[in-house]
Amino acid sequence: MPLYEYHCKSCDQTFELRQKFSDAPASECPACGGSVEKLISQSGFSLKGGGWYGDGYGGSKAAPAAPACPSGGNCAGCPSAS
Ligand SMILES: [Zn+2]
Repeated sequence: MPLYEYHCKSCDQTFELRQKFSDAPASECPACGGSVEKLISQSGFSLKGGGWYGDGYGGSKAAPAAPACPSGGNCAGCPSAS
């Protein structure tokens, strides 16, 4: 059952309610009876199109390091330093 979060505008409390999809959304604070607003749940729904793909995927962060030259950069295959 999805979990909904509500915020009471009167007493400034945030509370959670487990409701069926078919249930009417809560409109009253259980503590003070004030009017509430529904918050966007952070866990209730799958995050389609969310931003979970930022790190660790096929990145080209680190370019492959050039192999170390055994002669300290002076062999024929090295990019010329002079
Ligand atoms: Zn309240």
